Amino acid sequence: EMVEFNVFFNRIIDRFEMSKSQDVHFERQLPSESYFVEIDPDKLTQVIDNIISNALKYSPEGGKVRFKVNAQEGFLLVQISDQGMGIPKENVEKIFDRFYRVDRARSRAMGGTGLGLAISKEMILAHGGVIWAESKYGKGTTIFFTLPFEADDGGEWE
Ligand code: ATP
Ligand code: MG
Repeated sequence: EMVEFNVFFNRIIDRFEMSKSQDVHFERQLPSESYFVEIDPDKLTQVIDNIISNALKYSPEGGKVRFKVNAQEGFLLVQISDQGMGIPKENVEKIFDRFYRVDRARSRAMGGTGLGLAISKEMILAHGGVIWAESKYGKGTTIFFTLPFEADDGGEWE
């Protein structure tokens, strides 16, 4: 299905912004142009839902979650950043493994199975993108993923 990414992404962010119970501020930096992506909307919604729920789970009161989208060389680069506890450097790559959870104690308290990001990775790869994380322990985490967008070859004549 061909989807305009801003509309799609904003709708998901809106749903979280309306239902969140924490004092967490959302900041959006989305492009002013339209970008069309060929996606399975249900699957990509699941990916983004998991990333945002993780960001909220680990956000401190009064924290900020930032949503950023850039277009570069045929790909959209999507970033979702939080100001949570972060992930120790040696564990950052493992968070995409099945059932991996950074520390059992904190994860048990937070609930979940440790499958969310493994599934997200599978789905992003299936969409022709890549996904990775950068984190500063104690400062926050950013999840990045890319998606190929459709070349806009119409509308160039006017
Ligand atoms: P599930 O998503 O299946 O409910 P989960 O959230 O624990 O469970 P993942 O979404 O796969 O599983 O995340 C794996 C682990 O990575 C988490 O348990 C947590 O330890 C760590 N993690 C993920 N996102 C963040 C984040 N934004 N800040 C800090 N740690 C994170
Ligand atoms: Mg999760």
